[in-house]
Amino acid sequence: MPARRGAAYLDGLHDDRQIWIDGERVADVTRDRRLGRGVRSIAALYDLQLEPSRIDQMTYLSPTSGERVGLSHIAPRSIDDLVKRRNMIRAWSEWSAGMFGRSPDFLNAMVMGCAANPEYFANNAPAYADNIQRYAEQVREQDLCLTHTLVAPQVNRSVHPDHQAGGAVALRVVGETDQGLLMSGARILATLAPASDELFVAPAPSRSYSGIGNPRAFAFAIPLATQGLRLICRESFDIGRSSFDHPLGSRFEEMDCTAVFDQVLVPWERVFLYGDQEYCSAVFRKTNIFTHAMHQFITKNWVKAEFVLGVATLMAEAIGIAEQLHIQRLLGEILNAALTLRAFIRAAEADAAPGPGGVWAPDNETLLTARSFFPEVYPRLVEIVQILGSSGLANIPSEASVESPELVDDIEKFFQGAAIGGKERIRLFRLAWDVACSSFAGRQVLYERYFAGDFYRNVAAHYVNHDKRPYTKMVQDLLTREPAALPE
Ligand SMILES: Cc1cc2nc3c(=O)[nH]c(=O)nc-3n(C[C@H](O)[C@H](O)[C@H](O)COP(=O)(O)OP(=O)(O)OC[C@H]3O[C@@H](n4cnc5c(N)ncnc54)[C@H](O)[C@@H]3O)c2cc1C
Repeated sequence: MPARRGAAYLDGLHDDRQIWIDGERVADVTRDRRLGRGVRSIAALYDLQLEPSRIDQMTYLSPTSGERVGLSHIAPRSIDDLVKRRNMIRAWSEWSAGMFGRSPDFLNAMVMGCAANPEYFANNAPAYADNIQRYAEQVREQDLCLTHTLVAPQVNRSVHPDHQAGGAVALRVVGETDQGLLMSGARILATLAPASDELFVAPAPSRSYSGIGNPRAFAFAIPLATQGLRLICRESFDIGRSSFDHPLGSRFEEMDCTAVFDQVLVPWERVFLYGDQEYCSAVFRKTNIFTHAMHQFITKNWVKAEFVLGVATLMAEAIGIAEQLHIQRLLGEILNAALTLRAFIRAAEADAAPGPGGVWAPDNETLLTARSFFPEVYPRLVEIVQILGSSGLANIPSEASVESPELVDDIEKFFQGAAIGGKERIRLFRLAWDVACSSFAGRQVLYERYFAGDFYRNVAAHYVNHDKRPYTKMVQDLLTREPAALPE
């Protein structure tokens, strides 16, 4: 089956998955009042890839079936392929204003990256290389939508996850059968799970366990609708309001879930790593798998910063502050962020190199730096929107008031902007509120701080793993060099 349309994707979600929200089991995620509009926005992304004017930008010919498949699945063979993939990612990100952290391209790039490193999986066990390559092909050819989960529930971070609540919390292997592994316990935080076809369970790189035969060392994937798998959602930020009232929440609720496994059977052919903790702990450090994922999400972050710049610029113009020097300084800060992200992406592509099997990856060091940059910058961008908007972000009547015949004169007179009518100013400022103040906005800040791991430990790990010798040598060279001698 080639690249899917939205309708085919929605059809695929009609199964007996266990999605729990507000104490209820969801009957149909495509129609649920809390989840359905977000799910349908993902469907719109699938439609976008097959629009006649975009199909060449969004798809390529599958190396196995010859059919058109999504470009985020591509195994890049050149810098040109990386640029094509990035342009595809940009198109999906522009459509979603960078607010879908987990559009399917994120895991498409990561699963392709796994398949591009077969030796790594084969070294754990030869069958695992075949398993991951077959799986990546299935994801590409069926255009599946994936969620993933890496982390043990918080419970008590002062003890090892193996020992949380007597060892009964973190996901672990509780049995082996002829058919596969039996899994019990829980993992966080499966973003986009209700809208996904499959759950990819990867080892957390930062949580090192030890030993061979470790029941907590594994990587695998299973359908969302697997017996014994329950997904427990947070409350939804789509509370059914109009797109005028909640411009982002009504469109881009991607949902975060705890995945609970209750004697879940993982078939052997879906096991990618198992038992040897060495391979699990190092999978993202010793391969370029995560590099491909970073190429996706740094591109998304670049678009997100551009979107915030667009919102902030329109706000400043709307209320006549765009000529103030200190406002321009704030807007320039957002511009700097957007252009820095662009520079990271372009540098990572310019310094790309072929990896195992001749599959090209962008420069890892550049993308690791970009990964550390955004969690510090995004909260500041949101703060700037708050500073620009001031009372305008609290003074935003809902659509019902805007449309009320009794209030129409008040709305146009007292809510107008410098060069914009009252209704249009409220529409714009409600969007700014959803970027900077609403519960949707708060979750976006939290997401950018943490979705790619703990910022503090990421920066520290990058420093520890980076070769500092050229820098220390430069210092030592200077210390041992005699200053120029003055003429006698
Ligand atoms: C909105 C959102 C969506 C997410 N989506 C996904 C997803 O789809 N898939 C997925 O796998 N994960 C997802 N994550 C989870 C993400 O991977 C984790 O949040 C991240 O790895 C940090 O782990 P934690 O949240 O358990 O924080 P914790 O490890 O519990 O840390 C909490 C605080 O304690 C500090 N701390 C804890 N332990 C230590 C330590 N040993 N040393 C120093 N400081 C410590 C941290 O610095 C932090 O400030 C998501 C997170 C968020 C917020």
